[in-house]
This record gives sequence, C-alpha cells and structure tokens, in this order.
Amino acid sequence: MTSTALYSPVVVPAARLYIDGQWSSPPDRELIPVLNPATEQTIGSVIEGTQDDVDAAYAAARAALGPWSSTTLEHRAALLDALADALHDRGEELAILAAMEIGMPINESRAVQAAFPESVLRSIVDVARTARWEYDDESGTTIVREPIGVVLAITPWNFPVHQIIAKLAPALAAGCTVVLKPAELTPLNALFLAELCDTVGIPAGVVNVVTGRGPTTGEMLVQTEGYDLVSFTGSLKVGRHIGEVAGHRVTRSTLELGGKSPAVVLEDADLEIAVRTTVKNCFTNAGQKCNAPTRLIVPRESLERARTIAAAAATSYVLGDPLDTSTTMGPLASSDQRDKVLGYLDAARHRGATVDGGVPAEEFGAGYFVHPAIVTGVAEDDPVVTDEIFGPVLVILGHDGFDDAVRIANDTPYGLSAEVWSADATRVEDLARQIKAGQVRVNGVRSPQPPVAPFGGYKASGLGRELGSFGLDEYLETKAVLGLHHNS
Ligand code: NAP
Ligand code: MG
Repeated sequence: MTSTALYSPVVVPAARLYIDGQWSSPPDRELIPVLNPATEQTIGSVIEGTQDDVDAAYAAARAALGPWSSTTLEHRAALLDALADALHDRGEELAILAAMEIGMPINESRAVQAAFPESVLRSIVDVARTARWEYDDESGTTIVREPIGVVLAITPWNFPVHQIIAKLAPALAAGCTVVLKPAELTPLNALFLAELCDTVGIPAGVVNVVTGRGPTTGEMLVQTEGYDLVSFTGSLKVGRHIGEVAGHRVTRSTLELGGKSPAVVLEDADLEIAVRTTVKNCFTNAGQKCNAPTRLIVPRESLERARTIAAAAATSYVLGDPLDTSTTMGPLASSDQRDKVLGYLDAARHRGATVDGGVPAEEFGAGYFVHPAIVTGVAEDDPVVTDEIFGPVLVILGHDGFDDAVRIANDTPYGLSAEVWSADATRVEDLARQIKAGQVRVNGVRSPQPPVAPFGGYKASGLGRELGSFGLDEYLETKAVLGLHHNS
C-alpha cells in the first residue's frame, strides 16, 4: 500500500507496562505484536501481563486510593483539565496512532479518537464540578457521595480512545483509581494516554495500564480480588462472564455490550434521506460500532427502492489506506473480524439472501478489506438479522405499518440504540417511546454537544450508563449519615 504524506512516526512507550507511575519492561514476558490492519505490518508490541503484574497494579491502585480520594474535587478537576489540554495538543498524533491500530480513516479518527474524547473528558469534568457531592435531604439526613474504590476498566478495540476516556474521566473525577486492560488489537493508544496522564502529573498509582490478551491477562485481572468495580465494554459473551464473577462477589459491574440496533422508517418519512443516513451511520468505522443501525426496517412496499438507494450509497465508499484523507472506509480490525463478517455473508447467500457487495477487496494485496454489504431477502430470524456481526453489513427488512415496525425493532435480545424516521412529529415521538433501547435518535439527529446524554443498553446490551451525570454515578457509592443535624 502506498503511504501518504500524513504518516508521521508516533513515539509510544510500547512493550512496557505502566504501574505505580513507572514504566517497566519486566524480563521474561511474552511480547504480543500489534499490527496495522491495512498493511498487516507490525507497528509495535506490548507485554503480556502476568499475575505478578496484575498484583502490582492492584497494589499500586489500592495504595493510591486513600490519598487520591481525599484530594479536593477541584484538585482532581484541574488535573483532568490539564489532561484534556494534553489530548488537544497531542490530538493529531493520537488520531494517527489510533488510525494505524484500528484501520479507521484518519478523518474519522480525528473526530472520534481525538476531538470526541477531549470533549467527553471536558464534559465529565463540568458535570463533576456541578454535581451534588454532599447535601442534606428533606429528612435532615446528610447524603455523601463517595468514590467506589479501585476500578478495573476493560476496553475493546473499536473506538479505543473514546472507550478508555469514557471510563477514566468519571473514575478519576470521582476519586477512584484505575487499572486499565486495553484491547489486545489496540493497546498502543492506551499507553499513549498513560504517558499523557503521567506528563500532566496525575499521581503514581492512580492510573495503571496492564496490557495482554483477554483470556489470560484479562481473566487474571477479573479473577483477582483487587477491584471494587469492573467497567467493561465488549462482547456479550465476555461481559456475561465478567458480570457473573463480579455478581458472585456482589461487586458492581457496568457492562456495555453492543447491539443490533434498528433504524425504523415510517411510510411518511423521506426514504432517500433516511436510507442514505442509515448507511452512513451503519458503516462508520467499517461497521465496527456497537450502536450501528444494522437493521433498516422500511415499509414493505419500499423494500426494493430502499435496497437500490442503499446499494448505491454503499458502492460510493472509497476503501484504502486509512492515513489517506480521501479514504472513507478502512479495513476490518483483524483477520478474525474479516473472516467472521465474510462467514456471515456466505452463509446468508447459501440461505438465498441477496447480498449487494460484501466481498473481500483484494486489490490492495494486504489488509483486511471488505466491500460493504447490503443484505435483503432474509427471514427475520436469520443470523444476519439477529447477531451482532460487527462489520459493514446492513440488513433491510420490510414492515407492514407502525405496530409491525415496533415489533420488529424490539425483536432482539439487544437494546442499545435505535433510529426512528417519520415526518409526523406525534408518530415519531410515539415510535421513540415504544422502542426498548438506551438511546433513540429521531430523524437523523447526531450527537448533541456537550456529550452528556447517557449511553448504555436495555436488555442484553448491558448494565449501567456511560457519559454525563449517569456515567459519573456508576463510580460513586452513596452514604446516608443520619443525625448530624447540620440544619438545626
Ligand atoms: P471481547 O472479547 O469482549 O473483548 C473486549 C475486551 O475484553 C478486550 O480488552 C478483551 O481482551 C477483553 N477480554 C476478552 N476476554 C476476557 C476475559 N475472559 N476476561 C477479561 N477480559 C477479557 O470483544 P472483542 O474480541 O474485542 O470483539 C468480539 C466481538 O465483540 C465483536 O465481534 C463484537 O461483536 C463485540 N464487540 C462489541 C463492542 C462494543 O462496543 N460493545 C466492542 C468491541 C467488540 P482482548 O482484546 O485481548 O481479547
Ligand atoms: Mg477477544
């Protein structure tokens, strides 16, 4: 693949752990290579953390908890302001690094791996500054919000910087300390963020990063009794397991587990705009997005027109080098992810589905590229309709009116988000209220600023919420002190 003028080597302290404010490369650790999924070239490596590393990280986080949680909110907020400034100043490096790790086009990466995490961080600091940390209720009881303690944060690879900041910011604002295990595919940006935390003066032990594979290092982190909260984003399978371990100990877990989100179009909506917008939202980050609207549900009589519009929009994507600013779709994040996506599409074809696109893009000679797919002619219980595929695959289904559209939209174990389309203000509101999902977007609205709207799932999409005041709450315990009589 031809490289572009944009490429600039980013210096990351790779192959090192960040524990107790120290960068270390313990001897005899396995090194895991990190690949650029567009080139299949190695761009770095990270350490596979062992039980010793896990124990050291929890010990550091536990030791730092007392001093950190007894600092003033303003002290912590000022450090987080400095971290946001550092994210701003180093945003371009971070965007390039994340684009190289995930394969996300650089324009998208600038927006969602740099600018968005910065605004999330600033918004959480604002929420923390105005939160009611302590007050007397109408019974005269003093309500005290306290940090829950040591947080185990486990994050996936698809929006890695955002997913880390969405946990780190409220945890640190609350006065918690953190042990972070980033995804094996995208760990370098986590080490980059740790370097920023270190540079701005976040004290030793408050943020610790242990890299490694999920089933080994991740499992050790989960099984070791070192944390007071586990905050996980990733697959339903792993989330369910982590929730079980935490549940057995009666330790709080917040789980953000993906979805199979519907985009429901009523017959009075502008079909062209609704379909084109859905394609765009579905194919962000090559469809590797937990809240991607992957099930487009249109009036049955409009199915063929919707397919034509969607297929045309899909073929307009420019696949290629993520660091080339003209690229609009990069590769999938790994060969496993590519094979999983192609497997779903091949099986659907065997069952008689019509698939526009959805074939490997082999012209680059390397990289896990797949042309985006529009799937029609499938049963409502087909696996491409029911399973989270996590790739550029949009399925179109037909509905027979409002009630049928609601039925299909809710006919999923998931409930992370939904998009609804109608020209009628009353009907679109009614639709939004009937859908069981943590976020419902009306007529193509994007994310309002500041990014404080709660994000999280109904049903199997998870437990708890991220962002804004709901996100901060997850990191707090509530104490009621009866009888202090402040007011008497
Ligand atoms: P995953 O296996 O659930 O991984 C998420 C995080 O958990 C990663 O850091 C992973 O480490 C870690 N992990 C895996 N097994 C673990 C264990 N036993 N104990 C502790 N930590 C563990 O998800 P994935 O492999 O990244 O992607 C698989 C599928 O999950 C995707 O195809 C997609 O359907 C879904 N997914 C959903 C989201 C979302 O935003 N909700 C994000 C990504 C993926 P490793 O990276 O080292 O495995
Ligand atoms: Mg995994």
